[in-house]
Amino acid sequence: MSIQVPNNLLSIDDILPDEPLLMMGAGPVPIPAKVAAANGIVINHLGDTMAQVIDQVKQMARYVFQTDKGHILGVAGPGSAAMEMAIANLVTPTSKVLSVCNGFFSGRLADMAQRIGANVQRLSIDEGLSACPQRVRESILQFNPDVLTIVQGETSNTTCNHQLAEIVKIAKEHNCLVIVDAVCTLSTMPFYMDDWGVDAVITGGQKGLSCIPGVSLISFSEQAWQFILSRKDQLKHWCLDAKLADQFWYKKSYHYTAPVSGILAIHEALRLVCTETLETRFARHQTSSQALQAGIEGMGLDLYVQPPNRLNSVVGIAVPERINAKALLSCMSARHKVEISGSFGANIVRIGQMGEQCRAHNLFRTLHALGTSMNALGQRLDLPLGMAALEARLANLEQPILS
Ligand SMILES: *Cc1c(COP(=O)(O)O)cnc(C)c1O
Repeated sequence: MSIQVPNNLLSIDDILPDEPLLMMGAGPVPIPAKVAAANGIVINHLGDTMAQVIDQVKQMARYVFQTDKGHILGVAGPGSAAMEMAIANLVTPTSKVLSVCNGFFSGRLADMAQRIGANVQRLSIDEGLSACPQRVRESILQFNPDVLTIVQGETSNTTCNHQLAEIVKIAKEHNCLVIVDAVCTLSTMPFYMDDWGVDAVITGGQKGLSCIPGVSLISFSEQAWQFILSRKDQLKHWCLDAKLADQFWYKKSYHYTAPVSGILAIHEALRLVCTETLETRFARHQTSSQALQAGIEGMGLDLYVQPPNRLNSVVGIAVPERINAKALLSCMSARHKVEISGSFGANIVRIGQMGEQCRAHNLFRTLHALGTSMNALGQRLDLPLGMAALEARLANLEQPILS
C-alpha cells in the first residue's frame, strides 16, 4: 500500500469544544433532543415502518404548509436541492421565468432557472425593501412569464416580502406558476399554501423547522403536479425528478435510498410543530424576535432593515463603524460560546430567530454576548438598558422594568 494512514488523527470529541456553541446564526439552528435522538437511528428505507413514517411526515407537512391536496415530497439534500427540484420540474428550456430578486437566495432561484435554459427576467428589489405588488404586476404584464419565483424571507439581507399573498394572487391571475422559497420562514410566520394559491413551496431542515441540514421538503399544488405529469421531455436531473421521487413518497417503491435518519428527524421536528400548533409557534417567534430587536436597539445599535420591510426570522444588525465584524464574531464565539452570522454583502451581522433560537434563555445569552463583545472591542453600548428592554418586551411591559 502506498498511501499510509494519516497521522494526527482526531476524533470528533477532539475537534469540538467541550461545551457546545449556542447556534444563533442564520442556520443551522439548535435542534430539540427528540430530533437529535431520531437522527441517531437507522431503519430500513423500505418496508412497513418507513411507510408509516412517510405517511405521518406527509400528513404533518400538509398542516405545516397549510395545504389539503399539496403533493409533498422529501429531498435528500439542502434547501437548495429542494429549490432546484422546484425549478427543474416546473421550468422548461422554453419557459419564461420572472424572478423577484431581493438578495442572494432569491437570486439563486433565477440562476437555477437560467441553467435550465429558460428565458429569465430578474425584477431586482432595492436593498432593504420588500417587493411591491404593483411593480410585480407591471413586470408580469410586460414580460408575460410562465413561472414566477420569489422568496418569503430573504435571509441574506433580512428583508421580508410581507405582501407575498397579494403578489401570488396577481401572478395566478396571469396564469403563472408560483414558486416560493420559504426555507427560513416556514413555521415561523404565517404561510398558507392553498389560500394563497402557491404552486411550489420549498423548505429546508435547519432553519424554521429546527431540524438537521441536508433533508428538505417540497410541496407542489395540484396544478403544478398536473404540469409535471404532462411533461413529455425527460428531465436532465435524475435525483431531482419529481416523478421518480413520487415512486418512493407515494408508491412504496425505490428511487434512491432515502436519508432515513434525516427523515426520522424531520418527523420529530414536524411533530413538535404540530404539538405546539402553528398559531402558538408564530406568536412565539414574533414575541421573541421583537423582544430581541428591542434589546438590540435598547443598547444603542441600529437594525439594518426598517420595520415595514423587516424579517423577524433573521435579524440584521448594522455594524458600527469602529467595529470589525469578524473580530466581533470571534469574540462572541471564543469568549461566550455564542455563534451568530456575518453577511453576504452589507456590513451587518445576523441573529437567527428560527425554532429553538426563539427561547428566552437563548435571547438573554445572545444579547449579552453581543453587547459585551462590542464593548470589549471599543463600542460604548448601554448593555443593562438593552437587557432591560429585552426583559420588558418578553414580559409584555411598556417600559423596561430596570430603567
Ligand atoms: C438557507 C436558505 C436557502 C438555502 O438553504 P441550504 O440548505 O443552505 O441550501 C435558501 N433560501 C433561503 C431563504 C434560505 O434562508
